[in-house]
Amino acid sequence: MTDRADELRSNLLQVQERIEKACQAAGRSPDEVTLVAITKTFPVSDVRALAALGVRDVGENREQELKVKAPECPDLTWHFVGQLQSKKARSVVRNASVVHSVDRSSLVEALSKAAVAEEKTLRCLIQVSLAAYGSAEAATGAGRGGVEPSDVPDLAAEIAAADGLELGGVMAVAPLGSDPGEAFAGLREVASRLRSEHPGADWISAGMTGDLEAAIKHGATHVRLGRALLGTRPPLG
Ligand SMILES: *Cc1c(COP(=O)(O)O)cnc(C)c1O
Repeated sequence: MTDRADELRSNLLQVQERIEKACQAAGRSPDEVTLVAITKTFPVSDVRALAALGVRDVGENREQELKVKAPECPDLTWHFVGQLQSKKARSVVRNASVVHSVDRSSLVEALSKAAVAEEKTLRCLIQVSLAAYGSAEAATGAGRGGVEPSDVPDLAAEIAAADGLELGGVMAVAPLGSDPGEAFAGLREVASRLRSEHPGADWISAGMTGDLEAAIKHGATHVRLGRALLGTRPPLG
């Protein structure tokens, strides 16, 4: 085993232990929580090494990276977790089975058209803004998109009615500089309201390296982990 494979193995074991402890504390079974390895900025050799260790779910936040890496590892389930321009919808649908970041009607239309053209069913999560739980500065921070909780039902109805799309649930990123537990508790309420209308929309994608325990406590079904598994990311070029 190479040094890097060894390092990934040890990181994965630590992450699995964190997930197990968090589940235990929350009275949940670890089987209810899927680890999605966010491999952005890391080479496809790392993806292969994680796959060899049993990781089946992998995510990227940029279309340019997804379209290069996903075809190299077609047996894995690829998730797209980043902001998405409608013109990139076709490429993302071709390379991923789940999009976590659906946040507007125009994107629903573009994804639906692409899914029909690719003859695929794409699972869509609605990205929910938790800015209301953050500080004022955090709310203005870039890259923390998502729809307001009050807009979730309308967008959900559009996804549920769209050809080629399947409504999967919700996704969120906790706001910076505040208690992620409060934010994820809010997300859980949004998720249960959604589920009462759409019983199949039962995924809650929440929790990253810094806050996976809080997310699991509040019902996360999918944790998206980058740094805890792969280490510090090189700065984006
Ligand atoms: C990068 C990223 C993650 C992983 O974050 P880490 O802090 O490295 O675990 C999760 N979700 C999204 C949307 C991301 O862009």
